[in-house]
Amino acid sequence: MNTFKLDAKRPLIISGPCSAETKEQTLETCKQLAATGLVDVLRAGIWKPRTRPGTFEGVGLKGLAWMAQAKEITGLPIAVEVATPKHVESALEFGVDILWIGARTTVSPFAIQDIANALQGNKEITVLIKNPMNPDLDLWAGAVARFTNAGIPQQNIGLIHRGFSYFGHSKYRNAPMWHLIIEMRSRFPEMAMICDPSHICGCREYLQEVSQTAADLRFDGLIVESHICPDKALSDASQQLTPKDFEQMIRNINWRADSVDNPEFAKALERYRTEIDQIDSEVFDLLARRMRVAENIGRVKRENNVAILQGGRWNSIVEKVIAQAEKLELSPEFLKTVLEAIHIESINRQNQIMNH
Ligand code: PEP
Ligand code: MN
Repeated sequence: MNTFKLDAKRPLIISGPCSAETKEQTLETCKQLAATGLVDVLRAGIWKPRTRPGTFEGVGLKGLAWMAQAKEITGLPIAVEVATPKHVESALEFGVDILWIGARTTVSPFAIQDIANALQGNKEITVLIKNPMNPDLDLWAGAVARFTNAGIPQQNIGLIHRGFSYFGHSKYRNAPMWHLIIEMRSRFPEMAMICDPSHICGCREYLQEVSQTAADLRFDGLIVESHICPDKALSDASQQLTPKDFEQMIRNINWRADSVDNPEFAKALERYRTEIDQIDSEVFDLLARRMRVAENIGRVKRENNVAILQGGRWNSIVEKVIAQAEKLELSPEFLKTVLEAIHIESINRQNQIMNH
């Protein structure tokens, strides 16, 4: 019988290889991780949903036997990814405690429904649902609803934030888009939220800083990939840590308190918050004024029958603002994001005036 409880410990630390590859690699990684005393759950991918065919797709059933053995040796609960009802059936047979749904599966309501049906009424199992590849919170929330509708209690469901696929370049493999996670948290305030820095980063270099951000955003735990010999890993080699490096990284994280009983702190916080509220109010008054001017521009464009987008103008605005980034001590990325939001709203306003 499965007795694992998601809220039993905070932070909840899950670790293990991206994929179970061989019996030795699986057991040795799990034993070394357990020996750190920092791991609450062991993970391994058994069936790997790969972006391209021809890459390592997991060892299948025999890997489940290795994980079951790792559980027996270490006494730790085990987690594997499931993507089909057959996976669910096999995982349950081998006593898997936690099933996780991969990002490529969360995007597919049919697949999610099939998995949920396979778990119908199973009140013991814990299900962790990774965010879908694309930044679509409704799709993610829809997956949660399919499991609760199938009778899985809410307290046995957790969310894993593994970042979102996006077009363009960034230092991360998947964009964290932390603001979306904060939004998801306000939709499901009681639900455990685990961060997966490994799949966000895609490399070892940024794992520490992303894990610290997760701790500071009050995530309930982490899922981190670890391998006895990361460079030889058959999947996600560049983001896995040796159990030793994993230990060091976890020890370096500062899980700060949620609050503190200090009147001085409360007073200082209150003062700064009042100041921020005042500034926000000024910022939005200015933005409203700017939009009224955009509407006036829409009116003169309508009278003269010229298009909304005027070649070169937008680029020159961006260049002018970005040129001040250093002086303002604001990052060019931030300025660009703000400008883009302003520009979209400005175009919408002009469109409204010119075409309605
Ligand atoms: C994994 O955890 O190994 C995995 C495949 O992750 P994701 O679904 O987030 O890509
Ligand atoms: Mn992986």
